[in-house]
Amino acid sequence: PELRSLLLSRIRDVPDYPQPGVVFKDITPLLADAAAFGALTEALAAVCVRHGADKVVGLEARGFILAAPAAARAGIGFVPVRKAGKLPGTTLTQVYELEYGSAEIEVHQDAFAPGDRVLVIDDVLATGGTAEASLQLIRRAGAEVAGVVVLLELGFLGGRSRIAPALAQAPLEAL
Ligand code: IMP
Repeated sequence: PELRSLLLSRIRDVPDYPQPGVVFKDITPLLADAAAFGALTEALAAVCVRHGADKVVGLEARGFILAAPAAARAGIGFVPVRKAGKLPGTTLTQVYELEYGSAEIEVHQDAFAPGDRVLVIDDVLATGGTAEASLQLIRRAGAEVAGVVVLLELGFLGGRSRIAPALAQAPLEAL
């Protein structure tokens, strides 16, 4: 609860970004605060350890910033899941539906050892489309989903129910 209030106090609401009517959760004040970012990194690393994760996936782009130090702190590897066209090696691609249109994310096909337990980290769970697609990619790459951890869950967008089937029995945690 103390950690949570520290973290929430460092997240800024930006109205009408990136579109009118949307309130964007801006984590840059948290990242700029050494105590808050350090505490967040420790908390995420503890989740990695608790779930027995072998690898941490970060979702482009803010997920990278949170997941990479957590993975290093937990002593496990980091794997980027990127927007299409950014990874240099042979990739697996997952298409997913947005409110208007669709998007594609990718992972290197050799990013995981068979059966690796993978924890997914992102800053915000909104509609859940990105997280859901990442879970599909992880399984297609031959790994297991250990769970999903986000800093913030925007409950009113229903992401938790959208990703429930893809999570199977794995946990979704919001800090
Ligand atoms: P979703 O696929 O709708 O769940 O969108 C989640 C993706 O969009 C995540 O990678 C988030 O980083 C990003 N996102 C959506 N809303 C926000 C926000 O308010 N602040 C920061 N990132 C957001």
